[in-house]
Amino acid sequence: MIRQSLLWLSQQDSIFRLLRSNRLAWKFASRFVAGETIEEGVAVASQLAARGITASLDLLGESVSRPEEAIAAKEAYLRMLDQMAAAGGLEVNVSVKLTQMGFDIDEALCLQNMREILTRAAALDGFVRLDMESSDYTQRTLDFFTNELHPSFGNHCGVVIQTALRRSEADIERLITMGARVRLCKGAYLEPPSVAFPDKADVDRNYVKLMERLLLDGNYPGLATHDPAIITHAREFISRHAIPAERYEFQMLYGVRRDLQQQLRDAGHRMRVYVAFGTQWYPYLMRRLAERPANIAFMLGNLVKESVSRG
Ligand SMILES: Cc1cc2nc3c(=O)[nH]c(=O)nc-3n(C[C@H](O)[C@H](O)[C@H](O)COP(=O)(O)OP(=O)(O)OC[C@H]3O[C@@H](n4cnc5c(N)ncnc54)[C@H](O)[C@@H]3O)c2cc1C
Repeated sequence: MIRQSLLWLSQQDSIFRLLRSNRLAWKFASRFVAGETIEEGVAVASQLAARGITASLDLLGESVSRPEEAIAAKEAYLRMLDQMAAAGGLEVNVSVKLTQMGFDIDEALCLQNMREILTRAAALDGFVRLDMESSDYTQRTLDFFTNELHPSFGNHCGVVIQTALRRSEADIERLITMGARVRLCKGAYLEPPSVAFPDKADVDRNYVKLMERLLLDGNYPGLATHDPAIITHAREFISRHAIPAERYEFQMLYGVRRDLQQQLRDAGHRMRVYVAFGTQWYPYLMRRLAERPANIAFMLGNLVKESVSRG
């Protein structure tokens, strides 16, 4: 119920307009958001690199409705790629939402933007992940990836599969056959039971099943989860099947389970952190709160403390 309410709130632009200039809201968001500028995002990636952890940078923003916004987002991604390469010691790796590149406005515009980003990424030997959005976009995103991007850019691009969706097992098999790079996550969106498992235990079971498929036969899968039980299972599976560390990576979000990120890295696994930054942080923050409503208590506690100390 709380999760559903927060996910509903994540879609309310009017609330973001209220919160945008609220200092406390930003203070909480900054736990999950690396800053508002490219420089701040790249600085966090460099700090992670110093700890042996790679990053994927994400410029927050989604569902743009004007072509100028999509073009501005593409230009920002080109600058991000260049700045990651110029920083030295960083893998050039970004995550992109197609709706930020104009997917809802005009697919041809989105394709043009994505081709420019991927061409630049490939020239820098980098990688571009297409984040997966709500299930309204799953088929379109996979078609776009399969027909337009993967044939030209191969291992420089990859997609995301959400284990909450009933269709995902079939999608994983197709992507394995294609040799495509997949990030596996549970899924952050509110979905109807017609397309998604309503029971979380089924989402988790499906995660384990699809993760094992990818570990055995996938192309360098990204295992994106903070779930300690699933991570323990993955480590046992990897060790039992003697899967080398360079065949997969774990992935987590900036601001979440930093301890576990480092533990995995120190144990010899590759670890990548998804570093989101930018001014459009509201929907991202609400999805993070929905995943862990205990964070709301933390946020409210801080709010009370601040107002008491201000007297
Ligand atoms: C790198 C990365 C990329 C992602 N990309 C996408 C995407 O493209 N599309 C999409 O829909 N979703 C994406 N997600 C979000 C994902 O779908 C989940 O919503 C999110 O990761 C929470 O699921 P979980 O696997 O961590 O497990 P959950 O079932 O949410 O949590 C399991 C356990 O993990 C721990 N945990 C989870 N969250 C937190 C937290 N905030 N603080 C502390 N502990 C926590 C707790 O122990 C919890 O009990 C991504 C996630 C990651 C890590």
